[in-house]
Amino acid sequence: MPLAFSSILAQGARARPNRRLRISEKGRSFRDGVLQRSETGLHRLENRALNDNSVPPSPRRRVKVTLRGMDLLRNPMLNKGTAFSAEERQLFGLEGLLPVRSKNQKQQAERIYAQLKDQPDDLQKYVMLTALLNRNVHLFYRVLADHLEELIPIVYTPTVGTAVQRFSRVFQGGGGVWITPDMKGRMADVLANATRRREIRLLVVTDNESILGLGDQGAGGMAISVGKLALYTAAAGIHPLQALPVSLDFGTDNEELLADDQYLGWPTRRLRGAEYMELVDEFVEAVAAVMPKALIQWEDFRKDNALRILDRFVDRVPSFNDDIQGTGAVVVAGLNGALKIKRETMAEQRIVIFGAGAAGLGVARQIRAQLAEEGLGHDECVARIAVLDRHGLLVDDGRIMDPYKRELTWPAELAASHGLSDRHARGLHDVVRKYRPTILIGVSGVGGAFTEEIVREMAAHVERPVIFPSSNPISSCEANPADLFAWTGGRCLVAAGSPFPDVEWQGKRFKIGQGNNVFIFPGLGLGALASRARRITNGMTTVASKTLAREVTDAERDAGLLFPPIGRLRSVSYSIAVAVARQAVADGVAEIREEDVEAEVRAAMWTPEYPEYEPA
Ligand code: NAD
Repeated sequence: MPLAFSSILAQGARARPNRRLRISEKGRSFRDGVLQRSETGLHRLENRALNDNSVPPSPRRRVKVTLRGMDLLRNPMLNKGTAFSAEERQLFGLEGLLPVRSKNQKQQAERIYAQLKDQPDDLQKYVMLTALLNRNVHLFYRVLADHLEELIPIVYTPTVGTAVQRFSRVFQGGGGVWITPDMKGRMADVLANATRRREIRLLVVTDNESILGLGDQGAGGMAISVGKLALYTAAAGIHPLQALPVSLDFGTDNEELLADDQYLGWPTRRLRGAEYMELVDEFVEAVAAVMPKALIQWEDFRKDNALRILDRFVDRVPSFNDDIQGTGAVVVAGLNGALKIKRETMAEQRIVIFGAGAAGLGVARQIRAQLAEEGLGHDECVARIAVLDRHGLLVDDGRIMDPYKRELTWPAELAASHGLSDRHARGLHDVVRKYRPTILIGVSGVGGAFTEEIVREMAAHVERPVIFPSSNPISSCEANPADLFAWTGGRCLVAAGSPFPDVEWQGKRFKIGQGNNVFIFPGLGLGALASRARRITNGMTTVASKTLAREVTDAERDAGLLFPPIGRLRSVSYSIAVAVARQAVADGVAEIREEDVEAEVRAAMWTPEYPEYEPA
């Protein structure tokens, strides 16, 4: 089931003013466990490193609390469980409500981790972590931070995929906000229901149609939004109460769900066309009215809607599409790592992108931005990137109607100049043979598409072929990194979309970097929020990509990594956030000063250490 943030939210919202829950600390105030604005208009959240010391620390918080007894234990944002000290138990009416011995957060986290290890499978681990999140937010994020590399595949892909599919079967309560067609005309009121007494700064919004590799998953897509927000908090310290997961539940075309009596979503076919866009328009207007400082991350929309929505709202509200821009930024960061090893520029490459969907477009756009920066003109940029879809190389021969695909096509003359005029002979093998790419990127979702024959062909013409089989999950990955080493005689530079084990090659062990968007969106989002960016500029995504590339150390590169290890995610996200916020200032879309950037980013980061409580 989805990580039920909404239960936390619901509990926050349920706390009425007459319960007098008010928490405050120097220069800041919280109400109902929610930070209120300080006089400078900024949210000031503590900032301490989780499992690395590259994010500067700040002093421990002391907060005033008026909740007592079971009310306190049942508030997941305030509950410390067995970590309440003897003194706090006395002060807050908790005596007898907990086992007698207090444990600190580290001991609690060790106990939870041992319990996790005992779970029979990943879905059960997911369910257990969900339950933990619903009763103790700090402890959930402590455990996640301590075992980030191990637990990201549980709270997010691939395990979250199973949770999405089983959503209506295992539903245990809330999970964010579902917007349905019957809310037309009242969406602002509906959003206001979900946001009482807290300021939402970040929404992850999906319409559930293109979930991971699973397609249309109806209302269950909520688990994706929830999982992404968990990563935002774990990786970039976004305060859990500032984040809102949203599912635009405008129906589903998933026959199985429609036929299922237990299905919990809007039980009709998907709305399309003008009807669909009117609802999205109203949703965005409602967000702008009810949460004027919120950033929207669009997530897992079908490609045509993803592109239309991104373009439609990019100048109206701070927003970005992770599947397009996040993927572009992460893949290009990995490419730049490889180019550093090759001591070459992007402009010197011939690049093949296999897959012309949202990810392929995002990667192509980001590469083109770099090519232009390196001084190439339009035609040269076009000639450097060949994009293929299921019908082969995209060539502008009058057949391609999709405007976004047209953006990726080669002119017919260019195809002819490479001997690729025959549309029946423009498959991947043909293109590799005739165009001789130096870089091959897989974003097709076609498992095993980079065959031995194709890879050997590529390697015959390039000293260090760069090959990124980026599709997820592992079964959809275009090639296994170990095979790529074997087929290229160990000359390839590889990063994959999914985690892969190290590769042993001629007595040396190589690590395989994971080109996962999780390296980009938390830092990009944090930088945008900390700088209070009015929009996400191309410069901001580009600088996120460049900063990620720079974060790989020489030692990591020597070990084969083109991305940092996931264990360093928190400090990487911090560096990206600082760079993004600076870029927002430079692009004139920020509301902070350049000299305040680092302080603003640090101040915007929440950490899961328990504050000390004293009665209000
Ligand atoms: P999409 O459905 O929008 O696009 C898929 C594209 O692949 C389409 O253009 C389709 O024509 C093409 N395709 C399908 N079968 C093909 C074939 N046999 N030959 C050539 N092309 C074919 O999906 P998307 O959102 O672009 O995602 C594509 C893949 O990229 C997924 O597997 C996804 O997991 C992966 N992805 C990875 C990352 C990452 O960070 N590593 C990020 C985003 C997406």
